[in-house]
Amino acid sequence: MISMSKEIKNGFCGTIGNTPLIRIPSLSEATGCEILGKAEFLNPGGSVKDRAAMGIVEDAEQRGLLKPGGTIVEGTAGNTGIGLALVGNARGYRTIIVIPDTQSQEKINLLRAIGAEVRPVPAAPYKDPANYNHVARRLAEEIDNGFWANQFDNTANREYHVRTTGPEIYRQTGGDVTAFVASVGTGGTLAGVSTYLKEKKKDICTVCADPYGAAMWSWFKHGHLDIDDGDSVAEGIGQGRVTRNLESAPIDEAFRIHDRVMIKMLYHLLETEGLFLSASSAINLCGAVKLARERGPGQVITTILCDDGQRYLSRLYNPDWLKSEGLDPTRRGLDFLDEI
Ligand code: PMP
Repeated sequence: MISMSKEIKNGFCGTIGNTPLIRIPSLSEATGCEILGKAEFLNPGGSVKDRAAMGIVEDAEQRGLLKPGGTIVEGTAGNTGIGLALVGNARGYRTIIVIPDTQSQEKINLLRAIGAEVRPVPAAPYKDPANYNHVARRLAEEIDNGFWANQFDNTANREYHVRTTGPEIYRQTGGDVTAFVASVGTGGTLAGVSTYLKEKKKDICTVCADPYGAAMWSWFKHGHLDIDDGDSVAEGIGQGRVTRNLESAPIDEAFRIHDRVMIKMLYHLLETEGLFLSASSAINLCGAVKLARERGPGQVITTILCDDGQRYLSRLYNPDWLKSEGLDPTRRGLDFLDEI
């Protein structure tokens, strides 16, 4: 066996994190700021949620909640399910994913292909005990050696970002980072990275970029969740409550980003920068540009490129679907930045 050099990663789990920080030339030059995206789509499971999955599993092992041969149970249709299933395979756990039956067959097929047991349940609101999250919790309690990952309220999610994503961003910018922008699903990324950066330098500006239809903008700006306007096609983000991962998060600023400009940013990134990304990534970069324009040149603004476009071929990258949603990616140069 060869000796392990720093260049060699140890298995799937050893490959999570330490993603590149990518400068976006067009947006940096247009704003006079450094606009830098953390390439989380290059994680081995393809998204930022590999980190949450790893953090949650490691923490559960340390606490003795997850034992050899155990089963990870989670309610999720998206990237967290993929991350948990792959981390589970690599560490010797079974994974059961409970999802609403409104989710696409594509997602169910993908989760099954990578080895998760998928249990679709009828869609029900959060307050209903039949909601998929509650079903996942009860299932984990019922089965032998079951563990409920609980990504929204299990703060091992946030802690992993405090320990990894935050320090990586600080190190990669040589400590020169002046701002961090992220959208919120569980809030683990925004809260974790912001907590770390604020501990390093309290004047680093921490910003939530929220889609319409979510309540985080209202929460951080005005301290209430009482908002119900608009909608977004962005998947994986759009939060209506203060999760445990978000409690006491040190956030300075919040912006709302409309899908109308998100889609133009998404296609700009693809066609001009060669970056094939998700809606949440485009919302994050819109937030970064908005901060750049509001506070002026010279900032070093970091954000998250959450996952790549392949997961959204039938939606964001399908012209018929875009038309049916009234979304138009056509634009003239960078004129759309004025609409953010
Ligand atoms: N973008 C995508 C595509 C996601 O799947 C998620 C996670 N749900 C996020 C952004 C937000 O990350 P977090 O859960 O850490 O807030």
